[in-house]
Amino acid sequence: MPRAAAALVLAVLATGCAVRGGEGARVEDVTVGTARFRVHYLPEDAGAARQVIGALRAAAPRAARWGILSSPIDVVLHPTHAALEAAVHRDGYEWLRAWARFGQIDLQSPRTWGLLGASDAEVGELVAHELTHCAMYQLAGDELTWMYKDIPRWFSEGLASVAAGQGYRRGELQALGRYYEDALPGSGGGVAGARARVARGNASVVGDPLLDPDPLYQEQSDVVYGAAHHAVVFLLARYGEERVHRIVKLMGEGQRFPAAFREAIGIGDAEFASDFRRYVVWQGWRKDAR
Ligand SMILES: [Zn+2]
Repeated sequence: MPRAAAALVLAVLATGCAVRGGEGARVEDVTVGTARFRVHYLPEDAGAARQVIGALRAAAPRAARWGILSSPIDVVLHPTHAALEAAVHRDGYEWLRAWARFGQIDLQSPRTWGLLGASDAEVGELVAHELTHCAMYQLAGDELTWMYKDIPRWFSEGLASVAAGQGYRRGELQALGRYYEDALPGSGGGVAGARARVARGNASVVGDPLLDPDPLYQEQSDVVYGAAHHAVVFLLARYGEERVHRIVKLMGEGQRFPAAFREAIGIGDAEFASDFRRYVVWQGWRKDAR
């Protein structure tokens, strides 16, 4: 590694550490109802921390819709994008602003989101999204088990996106339909061919933003988040909020996602993903609109 790059990495690591427990770092405890937060930031992010704390106060009661905030959450404001990536062990995710785990939210200080920083509304939306992740993880498991529940990305991202009211960012269903028709392998025969394959249930998992999101996640995150959002909207419309909540509760009682989904919804999650794909490709949403 060139010396300059090595120095940069060291600087980033040093900064990352400094936010939690380092010299000059600030810590504030915030309680909202039964939810407890500890906010860590550097002095230059005092203003950003005020925005984040305001957003936590607004979002915490709403996050309970999809889970429970029973364990305390450390909220760490990183002073740069590089520091955020270092903290969450990702590299090259330019669009990433935050990362949520069971008891921690790492976020890039809103001060650095753009030349003029971020508006309260933008911070509120991001915090609502990340808190939904924490609430869902905390109901689905404990600090040891939450990672091993096989929760698919579409479910966690879709819930968080719906809870944070981010539909306006996610593109139209029509665009997602075009993606399915264009991107799925062997899509010769154009639209008609692709539809016929989907209708037969032969559509491949490869390239599917619900069933195989990882290859798309870094470069085409908009497709992954868009599909996730629309899939959860579809799930809620078809099966109702209570059954969706039940998926998370069943995980909290010991099941993993696939079994919990099947028990709460009545079909497997792969079958649901095919139903959703058919609905999008066949433009079932048009019939709904009539
Ligand atoms: Zn998310």
